[in-house]
Amino acid sequence: MILGVPKEIKTHEYRVGMVPALVKELVANGHSVNVEKSAGLGIGFSDEDYVNAGAKILDTAQEIFDTSEMIVKVKEPQPSERAMLREDQILFTYLHLAPDLEQTQDLIKSKAICIAYETVTDNKGHLPLLAPMSEVAGRMSIQAGAQALEKSCGGRGLLLGGVPGVEPAKIVIIGGGVVGANAAQMALGQRANVVILDNNIEVLRSLDRQFGGSIKTVFSTKDAIEKHVIDADLVIGGVLVAGASAPKLVTKEMIKKMKTGAAIVDVAIDQGGCVETSVATTHSEPTYLVDGVVHYCVANMPGAVARTSTFALNNATLPYILKIANKGYKKALLEDQHLMNGLNVFKGKVTYKSVSDSLGLEY
Ligand code: NAD
Repeated sequence: MILGVPKEIKTHEYRVGMVPALVKELVANGHSVNVEKSAGLGIGFSDEDYVNAGAKILDTAQEIFDTSEMIVKVKEPQPSERAMLREDQILFTYLHLAPDLEQTQDLIKSKAICIAYETVTDNKGHLPLLAPMSEVAGRMSIQAGAQALEKSCGGRGLLLGGVPGVEPAKIVIIGGGVVGANAAQMALGQRANVVILDNNIEVLRSLDRQFGGSIKTVFSTKDAIEKHVIDADLVIGGVLVAGASAPKLVTKEMIKKMKTGAAIVDVAIDQGGCVETSVATTHSEPTYLVDGVVHYCVANMPGAVARTSTFALNNATLPYILKIANKGYKKALLEDQHLMNGLNVFKGKVTYKSVSDSLGLEY
């Protein structure tokens, strides 16, 4: 199969669909990979690195789309990219179609085969191509929070781990899934006091086993959230109710009662946020203050660490890219229901129920 990797064109997007090591794997499996000129430059891969891995460099996105049977990207295709997609071409990338009628209509019109990373499942019921970005965001939330607690950001002027003779900060993590567990790991590494709340007792049991006595697990109720948030130096919001907006678990009233200079990193902001006072921010201006509490609400946290994020994403996508390339999309999809769950638009029809439901389109 001929695969194509265009340069990402969304603002401040430096990740890339395939690093040279992935290209090498595909080439070793008998496939050809076309990469757009300077596609990996933002994260330190030159065109020469790609050529050495066996890729062919093409000058424009148009040439990539014209010559490739399967396009491998990171972000959803932008309007100019959608216009280049053609019938029977395979598109494998994050799509997030449910709130995006315009993109969905363009993909329908293209008659391409559009497989979304974010809806591919695994046999544990997880989302294996979304998890790497949650790992990145969860780990990053602690460094973002540490900075937010510094005086220059309006924070209390606290060092997360304290020093000998001085108490560490109290970090309260709401949601103990991928984001929460990764945040806890980093917080413990910094020697902070860590409390995790979740409303799924199995999640708490598993965290308890994973971390032993080094973190405190708490069943998430309104009362418990209020008690711990008010007392926190740093709150990490990592809840997810699949397919729904994040529940507003931290209310305006709780924010008023928090310590002046405490901080909140609302990782769940990409689903609307789990804090009533959260508003999405960007990497260029990541924080703002409400009632003296520093809010960090960046919706694309992994973008700031694009090199790490690209490797994490590529590690997860490689087996699926190989499967599609080796078997052809038909066999690959029909043999693997979990990959089939990633199919969102197929030759002019929406094939993912919650996308068609949320956009009022035919399924
Ligand atoms: P996950 O499904 O692994 O974990 C979510 C956890 O929230 C689950 O354990 C669930 O039981 C818990 N939960 C649900 N309702 C709760 C409640 N009322 N109280 C306490 N816990 C509750 O999800 P994840 O992969 O960890 O992702 C968490 C959020 O982070 C998602 O919204 C995801 O989209 C977001 N995210 C954001 C970024 C970013 O850049 N901002 C990056 C990656 C992920």
